[in-house]
Amino acid sequence: MITIAEMMGGVGESPNAVRWTIVESTEWRAIFDKLADNTSVNSLAHSEALQMLRHRNNTSFEDISIIGRVSKAVIGRSTKAAIAGEVRYTENLKNRIASATKNGDVLIAIHNHPKGFPPSLSDILSMKNRNYSKSIIVGHDGTVFVIDRVDSSFAEYHFNEIYKGYLNSGKSDADAAILTLGKLKNRGLISWRKL
Ligand SMILES: [Zn+2]
Repeated sequence: MITIAEMMGGVGESPNAVRWTIVESTEWRAIFDKLADNTSVNSLAHSEALQMLRHRNNTSFEDISIIGRVSKAVIGRSTKAAIAGEVRYTENLKNRIASATKNGDVLIAIHNHPKGFPPSLSDILSMKNRNYSKSIIVGHDGTVFVIDRVDSSFAEYHFNEIYKGYLNSGKSDADAAILTLGKLKNRGLISWRKL
C-alpha cells in the first residue's frame, strides 16, 4: 500500500517541507551573491532566508524580514502570521519600516513561499506601495525569485488580465503566474529574476 506521505515525495515529507539538501548547500549560499552589489547585504539576506525556512518548515505560513541596504541591518521581522499565504504586517513592523525609510535607509523585503510559488500580484503591489528596492521570495523547495523593480505605472489589472487569460487556456496556477511575470517583464512593467 502506498501512503499519502509517499505519494507526496517520501515518508515524513509534507508538501511544505524544506529541501534541506538544497538550501543548506554552499551552492545555495552562493546564489545570494547575485542579489546585490554588497556582500554584507547578500549575506544578511541569505541568513534571514535560512532562518525563515527553518522556522516555517512543514507549514503553509509565511514570515517576512526587512533588511536595510544602507544600514546593512535587519530592520524588522514578522514571524507570527497564522493565515496560509499571507504576510502579516504588524504595527511594530510598519513603524520600523517607516522609521528606517525616514532615516534614509533603502529597504529589501524577504519572505517565504511554502510551495515555491512564483511572486504573486500582492507581492508586486506590496513592493510598489512600500517602496522596497528589492523583494526576495524564497521557496521551501529552494527557488529564489527577486523582483528588482516595479514601474510606477504598474496596476493590478495588468497582472490580472494576463493571468486570467492563461488560466482560461488551461495553465496551472504556477505556470500562469510565471508566464504572466514574463509578459509583465517584456512590457517593462516589472524587472524580476530567478537566482
Ligand atoms: Zn508572496
